[in-house]
Amino acid sequence: MKTLSIFNNKGGVGKTTTAINLASAFALMLSHEAGADREPGRVLILDMDQATQTSVTLSGGFFSAEDRTQGPNDNLAGLLLQMTDRSPVELIVTTALPRGSRKNMDFIPSSPVLMANVDGILRQNAVDGLYRLQEILEPLSDLYRYAVIDNPPNLGFGALNTLVAATDVIIPVQLEGPSIYALTETLRTVESIQHRPNPSLRLLGLAPTMCNFRREEDKEWLTALQKQYGDLVLPPIPRRGEVTAALTQGLDIFSYKPPRQSDALASANLATQEFAALATEIMRRLDS
Ligand code: ADP
Ligand code: MG
Repeated sequence: MKTLSIFNNKGGVGKTTTAINLASAFALMLSHEAGADREPGRVLILDMDQATQTSVTLSGGFFSAEDRTQGPNDNLAGLLLQMTDRSPVELIVTTALPRGSRKNMDFIPSSPVLMANVDGILRQNAVDGLYRLQEILEPLSDLYRYAVIDNPPNLGFGALNTLVAATDVIIPVQLEGPSIYALTETLRTVESIQHRPNPSLRLLGLAPTMCNFRREEDKEWLTALQKQYGDLVLPPIPRRGEVTAALTQGLDIFSYKPPRQSDALASANLATQEFAALATEIMRRLDS
């Protein structure tokens, strides 16, 4: 299993949007790769950001899982806090998304109430508090080809847990001065995790989000970013109304603007083409 953390300690940079659309693209690509006869590889998507009521959350807004058979602690936050007897495998729920996939995308529901306690409590367990997510994912690693993890917009123990558990990390970044200047701090965090708890963590790339290439500044910032970071810069995602419209309806972009051909990823819609290009490049890097 390749585990990809979508990390940036700033909010509103496109982490959640990137996480949901990448995971959906992976699920579709694995469905198409398997064809009709073979079981497709599976994708797990995890939401470490439920405590903060930011614009979009995955398991709160997206994959709302009202499972009455599970107790209040039987969720991702309960696993992190070691408050549930259930194993991670028992808590897995299969999503209906993306449309056209072979139902090969799963998640573990979370709890906004419990998730709010995670940072404070894990912090008190300074030694093992960094490894909780890694332990949760260990028994799942044979079940999934890819895990995609969305992060909270801070540098708490939740986010640090994802960097410890991940094999790879991408950093969404907006093409604006403050975002780009803040990159050094975000990169320093990744480097410090690489130094000690997770030396095999790979920085897969920087993903420019919400770009507006009608503005000269955005083109200039992209060029500057490419000059400084070279191949680390991933294919950029322009700002488009459909991206937000899809999320508002609880859909990934591929379900919102599906292709006519059932084995295609992108449709005539530009946003699907842009996310498909990004996902294809990230999958290539993950597998290499
Ligand atoms: P984060 O998770 O980093 O806080 P979000 O993914 O929630 O950021 O994005 C912040 C806001 O920007 C959301 O309202 C989202 O719909 C919007 N947004 C993100 N990416 C795009 C895009 N490519 N085009 C248009 N709106 C976008
Ligand atoms: Mg978010």
